[in-house]
Amino acid sequence: MSSIASVAELIGPANVLSAAEDVAPYAVDWRGVYRGTPEAVLRPGTTQEVAEVVKRCAADNLSIVPAGGRTGLCGGAVPPANGPRSVVLSLERLNRIRDIDPRDFSLVAEAGCVVQNVQQAAAEVGRLFPIQWGAQGTAQIGGMLSTNAGGIRTLRWGNARELVLGLEVVLPDGRILDDLRRVRKDNSGYALRHLFIGGEGTLGVITAAALRLQPALKRVETAFVAVPSPDAALSLFSRVMESGAEVIGFELCARFCMETAAKHGVGLRIPLPLESPWFVMLELAAAHESIPLRTILEDTLGEAMAADEVTDAAIAESEAQRQAIWKIREDYPECSRIDGPAIGTDTSVPVSAVPEFLRIAQREMTARWPEGRMSAIGHAGDGNIHVSLHAPAGMMDRAAWVARAGEMEPMVNAIAVSLGGSFSAEHGIGQSKRHAMATHKSQVAMDLMRTIKDALDPAHRMNPGKVLP
Ligand SMILES: Cc1cc2nc3c(=O)[nH]c(=O)nc-3n(C[C@H](O)[C@H](O)[C@H](O)COP(=O)(O)OP(=O)(O)OC[C@H]3O[C@@H](n4cnc5c(N)ncnc54)[C@H](O)[C@@H]3O)c2cc1C
Repeated sequence: MSSIASVAELIGPANVLSAAEDVAPYAVDWRGVYRGTPEAVLRPGTTQEVAEVVKRCAADNLSIVPAGGRTGLCGGAVPPANGPRSVVLSLERLNRIRDIDPRDFSLVAEAGCVVQNVQQAAAEVGRLFPIQWGAQGTAQIGGMLSTNAGGIRTLRWGNARELVLGLEVVLPDGRILDDLRRVRKDNSGYALRHLFIGGEGTLGVITAAALRLQPALKRVETAFVAVPSPDAALSLFSRVMESGAEVIGFELCARFCMETAAKHGVGLRIPLPLESPWFVMLELAAAHESIPLRTILEDTLGEAMAADEVTDAAIAESEAQRQAIWKIREDYPECSRIDGPAIGTDTSVPVSAVPEFLRIAQREMTARWPEGRMSAIGHAGDGNIHVSLHAPAGMMDRAAWVARAGEMEPMVNAIAVSLGGSFSAEHGIGQSKRHAMATHKSQVAMDLMRTIKDALDPAHRMNPGKVLP
């Protein structure tokens, strides 16, 4: 009996997808750039089943590609074209919240829980699961952790890694690492969980996580402001950080992005005229009702206008208006995708270097590809700006645009690295950035990563063709 037939016996035939039309959605990534040919999609329903599936695949020398919500932007959840025989292991049926304890400010969720459902579960007990980004309605806890996702609130609560207390992982040989403790302090040897967080499924399959929660936010104020330049945005950032309020979002967006959102977004309304070259979306919060957050925001924006850092501002007057502002930000990637091909980047630099980074990137891109349209949008409050070069309006042939301007990505990566930054801030490496690992990682770092991979997955069966060049 083949390993796939034996897995079907174990987890039920309905949970093994092998018909071409059922497998198809798992064989292509969100951007439609990477395609693979998995032999089947396996959907176990418990950690024990995951462990047994991994053992049976190992016995048949089948590679395993873990998949969550499949919103990753680096082709990580798709088998590589021309790679070894492989199956996609989808965690979608491991979707229970096992435990939630508001006194511990913790929650234990299985890997297939959709991030938004975890946020909702936390809110129901008066707690906050603070991570937030555009794909949270589809991305899953396992994918979020395997990519160490960031998003708009990294500046306040850190990346996904900072929100993890403990992890449960199925190792490449089928053993289960049960480290689901919810304690804040545990210095008993190496912090093994951090190998799997950001490991992109190359070292094991995350099946559950104990996550940190925060007190619910009692007051939130959100503004959409026009700024004349990234330098002005940087000065504004210092001003709001010093305002006495918690700054939980600070996003910088070029006008091009707002024009694209206005053009392709469904139900999006940009709150200010599209006359400014740059806009900032900022959000302040407080954990107590009595904090005069609105006054703090108005005073701060008033000072910023007097200092020419802000030229116009719209403050959300209701929760609906607040959500409408963030919807613009969250829907932008989809609007950009509809608009046409773009070569994207995921760089970070120190916050203070953001204006310099954008200046150099713009200068170099305009010099080499004057026909391209530059966009920049991102988490300026943590230095992670996504710069892209879009094909000329109307050009829809992605392959042709990549052939013409594909060098833009390594060029922008090199600019970020030269300013002390990273070529992969929050999306991970997957298939798309392996080349950059070879260029920018030190020999020592690569040696250590290969040693870890060989120790945990000596047959290199977990998510082949990802992360390591
Ligand atoms: C519109 C949009 C906006 C986005 N905005 C942001 C953003 O602001 N910040 C950000 O960080 N990311 C962003 N992303 C990228 C993406 O949403 C994140 O990387 C997310 O964490 C991926 O989760 P997922 O469940 O979709 O993972 P998948 O895409 O399914 O998988 C991602 C990687 O993790 C591995 N994996 C998945 N589940 C497991 C598991 N249980 N165990 C081991 N490995 C696993 C996969 O093999 C793959 O390598 C955005 C994506 C989209 C489409």
